[in-house]
Amino acid sequence: MTAPTSRERRAGDACPGVSRPFVAVDGSIVRLRPAAQPVRLEALSGLMDIVAGQTDPAIQLTSRGALQLRGLPDPLTPRIRDAIRATGLVPSATHELVRNVVASPLSGLDGAGHCDLRPVTRALDTALRADPDLAHLGGRFLFVLDDGRGDVLGESFDLGVIATGPGRCVVLAGGTSRGWEVPLAAAVPRLVALAHEFVERTGGDESVWHVSELAEPLGPEPTALVDLPPAPERPLGAVGEHVVVAVPLGLLRPDHLAALARVTDRVLVTPWRSLVVENAAAARPELEGAGLATHTGSPWTRLHACTGLPGCARSALDTRALARELAPVLPGGHLPVHVSGCERRCGTPATAYVDVLAPTSVDAALRQIRDSSPPRHDQETP
Ligand code: SF4
Repeated sequence: MTAPTSRERRAGDACPGVSRPFVAVDGSIVRLRPAAQPVRLEALSGLMDIVAGQTDPAIQLTSRGALQLRGLPDPLTPRIRDAIRATGLVPSATHELVRNVVASPLSGLDGAGHCDLRPVTRALDTALRADPDLAHLGGRFLFVLDDGRGDVLGESFDLGVIATGPGRCVVLAGGTSRGWEVPLAAAVPRLVALAHEFVERTGGDESVWHVSELAEPLGPEPTALVDLPPAPERPLGAVGEHVVVAVPLGLLRPDHLAALARVTDRVLVTPWRSLVVENAAAARPELEGAGLATHTGSPWTRLHACTGLPGCARSALDTRALARELAPVLPGGHLPVHVSGCERRCGTPATAYVDVLAPTSVDAALRQIRDSSPPRHDQETP
């Protein structure tokens, strides 16, 4: 099974936001986009208050470093809309859906990479929001900014930047390694120009989501070919004076938030369902004690689950509840383990993984893990 092409799509994308919630079986889903910038704990607390009455309240972290609330009323009540907007996480009503930016999360913090990309990330967000035409980009269009370490260029991006030295970078388009070498200071204007060209070339056709779907390549003839560095290991635990914590199942829960609030006033959401907490390496034990993962031996660095019940009617089980029961007895191994509620296997890793399909119990899941030979890696990720 492959993703539909633009010709096969009948409608525009349905990526959710406050202005356009997606309605699932358990209610409305709203996504907030920090655009690769730090999020205040106060804002996260505001979001948590909105879902506090749910059976299992949580803020979901997405694979693009966004925040998601689900199980909200359909339609959203004005009170909930106002409460979400009061967090400051929707700084532009017109550009809410297009602030899809992923950047090297440790840029400027750990000395790796060629430069500190944080000013570029902020400048890109400002430029995006200031440009009325770019509100037409669509919710699936992705900008990726990599400081040269190669940690985020593996995302299938539409427009990207990779730093190639101090003050130098190559701007890339369509997920390829061909692009244009420019001074770092010229990266944002070049990205904006290319984004403009994309909007003009699609001419309002909302079925074209990505640069790679254009009939002709975007931009002038490329002038640079980048040797993309291999992706480094995902950071976890102490990084100098900072700490990276993985959030089990990508669900940030009230106890996690309470522990974070004791050690910081802001976090950076990574595209790996983890958080960078600046100047908090010493608080690692406290954060681990609250259920966040900070060691590579934690089952939560490998164990994942699809939405399952109650959010997905196709599922026969609460996949996440089962994963929580499974975590303490998960057999050792290197491969990710993914619990799916049905054969669609949503959210499976792009790499090899251990497939746990609709298990009726933890024992059944353990049997599937033991019997999983060879591991699966051939399923589509919807
Ligand atoms: S794998 Fe099946 S049960 Fe799980 S979220 Fe996807 S459709 Fe729903």
